[in-house]
Parts: sequence; structure tokens; C-alpha cells
Amino acid sequence: MEYLTLNNNTKMPMAGIGVFMLSSEEAEASVESALRDGARLIDTANAYSNESATGRAMKKSDVKREEIFLVTKLWPTVYGDEDAVDNTLKRLDTDYIDLLFLHQPTSNWKDGYRNIEKAVRKGKVRSIGLSNFSIEQLKEVLEFAEIKPQMVQVEAHPYYPQNELKELLKENEMGLMAWYPLGHGDKTLLEQPVFTELGKKYHKSNAQIILRWHIQSGNVIFPGSKNPAHIRDNFDIFDFELNEEEMKEIATLNNGVRYYNATPEQVEFYLTMELREDI
Ligand code: NAD
Repeated sequence: MEYLTLNNNTKMPMAGIGVFMLSSEEAEASVESALRDGARLIDTANAYSNESATGRAMKKSDVKREEIFLVTKLWPTVYGDEDAVDNTLKRLDTDYIDLLFLHQPTSNWKDGYRNIEKAVRKGKVRSIGLSNFSIEQLKEVLEFAEIKPQMVQVEAHPYYPQNELKELLKENEMGLMAWYPLGHGDKTLLEQPVFTELGKKYHKSNAQIILRWHIQSGNVIFPGSKNPAHIRDNFDIFDFELNEEEMKEIATLNNGVRYYNATPEQVEFYLTMELREDI
């Protein structure tokens, strides 16, 4: 495993598992099997409605809490709610969150940010993240923050490597967690000839080549999967290195196209979007 050191000196594993769009049952099984296979980074969210399942899986795995890097996200409907962090902790059945994100840049983000800062001061949250914030919005947060954020979480993959955002992150010593690291399973990305070629050279799958590219680009990855063989493969990327020329060849795939584009109106809708019950 490789680690990223955050701007508050916390060490974060660079690869883990995400549980977006998994039912409680699926999330519980995936997290438990990933932890048993050596994964130590888990990414969930209020909005995935599987935080309770994630908490159960952490307990069942017998891995010590302090060995796990637990990431979750507040949903905009609770940004201003005094109990938002405590309720999240209750669902996860833990007394601290390693990294807590604001999930969406809705107009009430300042309430959410102050709420997370309070939780940091009380030791309930260790690091702060911003998910889906644009460069402009991030600049506003950096001005507003009393406690500096550590991470962003945005869509990133070889078609959309976020080069411009990464300049700002570098200036502020912030890290990037890449969502849709495999293009959400898009075959046109997974089957690019450059990945097949490099896969043959290094005896790895195309997905493993893409994930290795992320790691060498400094991105933290947490691909989604219900398939135990894929979950294992997705960690087996630390025994080889792409050379500079290969990294440059992959960089030519950047076509500036992302899979998910939300209008400001769609983002604002999240403020009223109620969540499924978390069981
Ligand atoms: P992904 O790019 O990780 O792709 C997942 C797809 O790739 C699945 O269809 C899976 O079956 C396939 N796959 C996984 N491993 C594979 C392998 N080794 N070989 C071949 N195929 C493989 O996209 P995702 O799962 O949607 O996103 C990853 C995580 O990002 C989510 O679980 C979630 O935690 C996070 N996410 C966050 C946000 C946000 O707003 N912050 C939005 C979307 C997703």
C-alpha cells in the first residue's frame, strides 16, 4: 500500500473501496471482504443509505478501528443540523470519522462547513473534505475556512484528469480522491489499446493499469465492485510502476469529457432530496 500525507500530517491509504449504489446487504458483504483482504480505506456517504451496514462490516471484520481510514459525507439536507455528525457517527457505530466531506456544493455549504469544523475541534472528525466543488467554489471555501480542508473528491479518470483543479490543490497541499476512477465501468475507457498493451507488459488487467496511473498521478482510488476477484485485483497494483513515457501516453487520452455533469439547478435540488432509510 502507498500512503498520502495530508496537510494536517494525517496518513491516508491511497487505495480502498467505495460503496456507492450498493444495497445494505451488498455493502456489508463488500466492506467485510475488502477489510479481510487488506483494504483499510472505506468510502461511504449519508446519501448511500448504507452507513449502518458499513459499521456492521467494520465490526465483523475484526480489524481494529484505528487501522481503518473511514470516509463519509454529509448530505445537504443536514448541513445546518446540529446533530448531523453525531447521527452519522451513530449509524457508523464509531466515535470518530477519519475524513468527512460536504457531499454537494449546495447554497447552504457554509452551515455544513462550520458544523464539520466544530466536530473537528471536538475530536469527532479528523480531516475535512469537499466533494463536487468547482475551482471557484473551492477558492471561496479556502477564504471562509477556519480549519483548512485536506481533500477534494471529484470525478477523475484518464478522460478527465482534472489538471486545472490539481494546480489549485497543489498550491494548498490538498489531495484528490477520484470518483469514477474506472469511468464507472465504461468499456470505451477500459478497453483503450494502451491499457491492453501495458497490461500485457506488466501482467495486469486493463483496470489495474488505470488504477496504477491514478496512484502515480497522486490520486486516491476507491473503485466500486461487488465482485471479490475485482476487489482483490484493485489492490494488487503496488508491485509495478509505469514509466514516464507510459504516463505521458496515457495523458494523451484526456478529452475533457466527464460522465456526470450537474447543472446548478440540479445541485440545488439536493437540498430538498430526502434520503432512503439507512438500515
Ligand atoms: P468506478 O469507476 O469505480 O467503476 C465501477 C465499475 O467498474 C463497476 O461496474 C465495476 O463492476 C467495474 N469494475 C470494478 N473493478 C473492476 C475491475 N478490476 N475490472 C473490471 N471492471 C471493474 O465507478 P463507481 O463505482 O461508480 O465509483 C467509485 C466510487 O466513487 C463509489 O463507490 C463512490 O464511493 C464514489 N462516488 C462518489 C461520488 C461523489 O459525488 N462524491 C459520485 C459517484 C461515485
